[in-house]
Amino acid sequence: MLGRKQLLIGGEWRDAAGSKTQPVINPATEETIAEVASASAADVDAAVAAARAALDGPWGKMPARERGQWMHKIAARMLERIDEISRLETLHNGKPITESRHVEVPMAIECLQYYAGWADKIHGETIPVKGSGFVYTLREPLGVVAAIVPWNFPLLIAMWKVAPALATGNAVILKPASQTPLTALMLGEIAVEVGLPAGVLNVITGSGGIAGQALVEHAGVNKIAFTGDTSTGKGIMRTAADTLKHITLELGGKSPNIVFPDADLDAAVRGASVGIFYGKGEVCAAGSRLLVDKSIKDAFIAKLAERTKKMVAGDPLDPKTRLGAISSKTQLERVLNYVEIAKKEGASLVAGGSRADIGTGKGYFMQPTVFADVTPDMTIAREEIFGPVLAAIDFAGVDEAIARANDTLYGLAAGIWTKDVKKAHYVASKLKAGTVWVNTYNVYDTAVPFGGYKQSGFGRDMSAYALESYSQVKAVWVDLS
Ligand code: NAD
Repeated sequence: MLGRKQLLIGGEWRDAAGSKTQPVINPATEETIAEVASASAADVDAAVAAARAALDGPWGKMPARERGQWMHKIAARMLERIDEISRLETLHNGKPITESRHVEVPMAIECLQYYAGWADKIHGETIPVKGSGFVYTLREPLGVVAAIVPWNFPLLIAMWKVAPALATGNAVILKPASQTPLTALMLGEIAVEVGLPAGVLNVITGSGGIAGQALVEHAGVNKIAFTGDTSTGKGIMRTAADTLKHITLELGGKSPNIVFPDADLDAAVRGASVGIFYGKGEVCAAGSRLLVDKSIKDAFIAKLAERTKKMVAGDPLDPKTRLGAISSKTQLERVLNYVEIAKKEGASLVAGGSRADIGTGKGYFMQPTVFADVTPDMTIAREEIFGPVLAAIDFAGVDEAIARANDTLYGLAAGIWTKDVKKAHYVASKLKAGTVWVNTYNVYDTAVPFGGYKQSGFGRDMSAYALESYSQVKAVWVDLS
């Protein structure tokens, strides 16, 4: 048991008003591993006041370069504590330690370093205008940014918001998902440890319906940077309208991974597998719709099924494990329910399909699952499952591949497997998605923008593009006549 964790407000740790707490469950063991404060609207008021005080205090007056140096200090300390952070990420989420330690926590640190480097390179421009004078622009922070993040990549997605927000001079209130608050709290702990001025980074744990909602309603919050479910995003957009907040929404997906007959089929099988089973399929950009050309379908599905059957869930803390525990009981039940729906609707189960046991009789484990003969109207072809379940759909020819790929409400990502360069670029240009991977899948870099088309949301995480959505432009007219 990791004990009881408090809220970080204005550089100080405190209980939630009324001392309410909520448990954090390790999905691999079903044990309660910590109790965290469950924030109320009163706590949100306090966090907003603390963030505002930081903006009115030293943080608001600090030279940009110095801001970047603070961010580098936090990154350096995170690197020193990387094993501890990675272990926590695995404990509350159930993801394999290899993914936490060698992919996601290093990426979170790199993201902070990347934006630390940006801090003193964000500036306006001088614009010639008619008359005897000129105009210059200033890029100013928005003010108080609330980052509301999901449970699938708890620290990494938090950093995608926190880092550009700090680089542009905002103060932040971070609200992690109720299921996975521990690494956000550790980030807060490290910020305090290195001496980041009070109130620049506040961490509020608690439920989305109470703490999250209070942040979205609060008149003192200038921006909501949100990643989560599409329906939650729509609610946030409606509520944020009352105070006309800036919002960016990174939402769900049902991404197509398209295999043309001229692809390197072994590479495409690996890509289909990584596309759906990395992170237990709890990945917004998961390639959850595998589109395979009819002419190669049977051979391709057979290879994929064989590979899938060899993949077994294991203890997330074991470095050899490649498939961890589903993040919560609710999520496991949801995923298993989709499996039942798929069977009823007539899809062919070619691998997995059941809950898994790693020999402990405990934990929310699931077999990696592949359905073939899925038609575009079936529920598993249309709804985001957010678990290790792949729906394979066939197509005939390039035009039908494009039509089927775009036949979704979502538009987060897509994959294309072909050796034909012309076809790859043509299809990439036709896909309505924020990210297109050619002969690869699920790769990310802090320097590359990531975000959605259509109902996958708007705004971009990472890259220089994100900086724009955390700052506003002031035009200053100077008359020299
Ligand atoms: P969720 O929408 O249930 O929760 C996300 C966050 O919002 C949590 O912190 C939650 O507490 C908070 N929240 C819930 N209700 C709220 C409300 N009324 N007001 C304010 N905040 C509220 O999503 P989830 O189940 O944690 O995450 C899974 C979803 O996130 C999937 O749909 C997935 O595709 C999406 N996702 C998208 C991206 C992306 O970049 N597009 C990345 C990762 C996950």
